[in-house]
Amino acid sequence: MAERDADLVILGGGSGGYACALRAAELGLSVTLVEQDKLGGTCLHYGCIPTKALLHAAEVADAARDGDAIGVKSSLAGIDMAGVNSYKDGVVARLYKGLQGLVSSRGITYVEGSGRFVAPNAVEVDGQRITGRHVVLATGSYPRSLPGLDIGGRIVTSEQALTLDEVPERVVVLGGGVIGAEFASVWRSFGADVTIVEALPHLVPSEDEFCSKLLERAFRKRRIMFKTGVKLTGAQQGERGVSVGLDSGEQLDADLLLVAVGRGPNTAGHGYEEAGVTLDRGFVITDDRLRTNLPDVHAVGDIVPGLQLAHRGFAQGIFVAEDIAGLAPPPIDEAGIPRVTYCEPEVASVGLTEAAARERYGEVHTLTYDLAGNGKSQILRTSGAVKLVKAGAEGVTGPVVGVHMVGARVGELIGEAQLIYNWDATAEDVAALIHAHPTQTEALGEAHLALAGKPLHAHG
Ligand SMILES: Cc1cc2nc3c(=O)[nH]c(=O)nc-3n(C[C@H](O)[C@H](O)[C@H](O)COP(=O)(O)OP(=O)(O)OC[C@H]3O[C@@H](n4cnc5c(N)ncnc54)[C@H](O)[C@@H]3O)c2cc1C
Repeated sequence: MAERDADLVILGGGSGGYACALRAAELGLSVTLVEQDKLGGTCLHYGCIPTKALLHAAEVADAARDGDAIGVKSSLAGIDMAGVNSYKDGVVARLYKGLQGLVSSRGITYVEGSGRFVAPNAVEVDGQRITGRHVVLATGSYPRSLPGLDIGGRIVTSEQALTLDEVPERVVVLGGGVIGAEFASVWRSFGADVTIVEALPHLVPSEDEFCSKLLERAFRKRRIMFKTGVKLTGAQQGERGVSVGLDSGEQLDADLLLVAVGRGPNTAGHGYEEAGVTLDRGFVITDDRLRTNLPDVHAVGDIVPGLQLAHRGFAQGIFVAEDIAGLAPPPIDEAGIPRVTYCEPEVASVGLTEAAARERYGEVHTLTYDLAGNGKSQILRTSGAVKLVKAGAEGVTGPVVGVHMVGARVGELIGEAQLIYNWDATAEDVAALIHAHPTQTEALGEAHLALAGKPLHAHG
């Protein structure tokens, strides 16, 4: 029998892997964490954090440009990408340092190098065999492209888009999902002409159609162009630009084409298939306790089919650590994971879309509360709305099973929305709670007051 030098060997130090390592160490398990690039993974270095820093810079640019409208004399003199990048990189560097300190302070053995899964209890790194009672696969995802669309030069993915040293004048964004919408928003705020091309009928197509339509209206107002239900036929790049062909017959010329068509599981070349891990289109198949088909082998994060979000990775990592430690945590409800698209305006949701709720519950009742009635949203000069989806017919008490929001900063409201969904709250439960005035959280409170049949600042 192989020598076991850890309770847990974790392959990949991104959101899923490092969260699992931290929680397992907290529970007294010995942990070896293997990472080939940088601790923190996609989220910290190439995803959530750098994009949100860009979005904050974009918000400041908008505020400078629009100050005059509220009597603050200001204008946008320009965007210095070197300055923006140094701010962004500084944020990442501080968090990276903190995370490295955290991992070393918890007594986790950190191994730098590319690991290969060679047996259900072993990973090999640079010829060294590391064994463990349990192995957790957490190798994350990579940006996909389309057949015939080679990344390079003026055709970029989010990874290159994060390191641009100037603002492109004209950009085509292929894909109107979360990543596409966020970059489109940043570049528009920085002054670029942006066109999004989306094959499905709507932007942010996995959201309730209500959110897609409100976002589309807001993007139109911001003069972010978009073409939905249209596919790319090809892209040619030359020295001066890139020319993008569409199946509508149109051709779009731009300085840059961002390919944001989703992320594939990073499961090839790490020994998974050879060791007998069940994969489906590259994703690792698990049960609801995140166990793979192999004994004592779990998988977490973007390699597991479902939402590709950092906080899902954290939750799954924690879940696996607790499960291995014998705490028997309840399985994670995928619908209860909050989802936020941080463009301007933001889109935030939790629970089921109206369509999914109808499928599950048969009868549902919905209520929409317009941010026009919310004082703080008016102060911020944002428009949008909150939509609630309740299980059961109108007038019958039932849990709120979906909350969908569009508007500036509504991502901050998702904390309360997720409690409402995950604690099976009814409209009456929430209506009894007092929301501070004037805040945007009041919009959630007022929406539930209205759903409970006692609207305050809402028109019938
Ligand atoms: C542009 C962008 C913006 C995003 N914004 C958000 C956001 O705002 N909010 C949000 O929740 N999510 C966001 N995401 C998604 C989020 O980054 C991912 O869901 C999350 O990082 C997944 O975590 P993970 O641990 O599964 O994988 P990763 O973070 O990708 O980590 C996997 C790690 O495994 C390592 N690895 C791979 N193979 C090996 C090997 N053989 N040996 C050793 N190490 C290996 C990799 O180097 C990597 O560090 C964004 C993603 C992108 C690309």
